[in-house]
Amino acid sequence: MSKTTIPLIDARQRPVALTAEARAAIQAIDLNGPILDQLSRPLRDLRISVTDRCNFRCSYCMPKSVFTRDYAYLPQSDLLSFEEITTIAQASTRLGVRKIRITGGEPLLRKNLDILIGQLSALRTLDGQPLDLTLTTNASLLAKKAQALKDAGLTRLTVSLDALDDNIFRAMNDMDFPVADVLEGIDTALSVGFSDIKVNMVVKRGTNQDQIVPMAAHFRGTGVALRFIEYMDVGASNGWRMDEVLPSADVLAMLQAHWPMQALPAKSKGETAKRYGYLDGNGNLDPSLGEVGLISSVTEAFCHECNRARLSTDGRLFACLFATQGTEIKHLLRSAEPADATFVAQYLAHTWQQRQDQYSALRQAGVIPAGNARERIEMSYIGG
Ligand code: SF4
Repeated sequence: MSKTTIPLIDARQRPVALTAEARAAIQAIDLNGPILDQLSRPLRDLRISVTDRCNFRCSYCMPKSVFTRDYAYLPQSDLLSFEEITTIAQASTRLGVRKIRITGGEPLLRKNLDILIGQLSALRTLDGQPLDLTLTTNASLLAKKAQALKDAGLTRLTVSLDALDDNIFRAMNDMDFPVADVLEGIDTALSVGFSDIKVNMVVKRGTNQDQIVPMAAHFRGTGVALRFIEYMDVGASNGWRMDEVLPSADVLAMLQAHWPMQALPAKSKGETAKRYGYLDGNGNLDPSLGEVGLISSVTEAFCHECNRARLSTDGRLFACLFATQGTEIKHLLRSAEPADATFVAQYLAHTWQQRQDQYSALRQAGVIPAGNARERIEMSYIGG
C-alpha cells in the first residue's frame, strides 16, 4: 500500500546557498534598530510547532481522510532539537519577540516537553523581562502533564475544546476522545496553579453552533476565558466553505440574548480576539463573571496589526497562517560552520523585513492569490 504524502516541502523551499553579497547584506542588519515588515509591523509573537503529529483528527485541521495511518509524518531527524528551538527563540527575542506560544500538531505528544519549557522560560525579552510563555493543547494529555509544565515555567495555557456535548465532541475530534478527559485536564491545570487559561472553540455552522451558549454558561464565572473562533480556510485539505462560517457578530448576538455584555479594551497590540465582559444585574461590568473573546479572521480581518511568525517543527519560518511557503532556518544551525546567534537573529530579521502577508485582509477584499488554496501549508504543521 503506497504511503499517503502531501508535499509539505517542495524544491522551491530548499535553502539556497547565500551569496557573499547576500550574506554581507544580512550581516549589515542593525539589530538595535526597529525590525519591521513591509507593512510596518514588528515581530512580537513567535509560535513554535514542536510536532506535526496529533491524536485528534479535527476535520477543520487534520481531516482523517487525508491524515491517514499511512500519512508520512516528518522523521525524527528532521525535527528541531530543543537546543535548536531555544537558539532560534533567543535570536527572535533580539528582534523584539515578547511572547512564545508552543503548538503542534498536539505539543504534549512531544516527549520531555517540560525540558524545552524550562529552556525557553530562562530567556528574556530585550528589556530583561521573562517571556510570555504559553502553549496550545487539546488537553487530552493535560491531566498527566500539567504539574511538570507548571514546574518548568509555563505561564499560560490555551485549550482547544469545540463542544461540551460528548457526542458532538467525539464526532469533531473524530478519534472518539471523550470530553471528560479535556475537562479533567483543565481542572488539573487550575489545581496546579495555572491562573490564565483560555478555551478556544472553533465554531462551524451546521456542526456545533448549538454548543455556543452551553460552553459560555459552563465557563462563565470560572476564571477561564472562552474564545470563539470563526471556521477558517487553513491548509489545503479541510474543504472549507464560506456557508459553514458563523460570523462572530452572530455568535455575539446569541450570547447577548442570554447575558448583557460590554466590549473590553484590547490587552495588547496585535491581539487576535475582540473581548467582551459580562454585566451584572445593575448593568455594571462584573470581572468575576469572566469574559469571552471573538476571533474573526474571516469577517473582521486583523492583518494590519499581525505581529506573529510561526516556526515549523522542522525549522522553517512562516510569515502567515495561510502561507504557501516558508524560509528554512534549520540549515543555519546544522551546516559545517553553524551560524552564531547574531547571524541567526539577522537572518530572521532579513526574513521578517521581506514579509508582506495579509491573507485574511485579501480574502475579505475578495482577492485571494491564485492557486493559494491548493498550496497553503497545513495548520497541523505550523501550528494555529
Ligand atoms: S492572515 Fe496572516 S497576516 Fe493576517 S492575521 Fe492571520 S497570520 Fe497574520
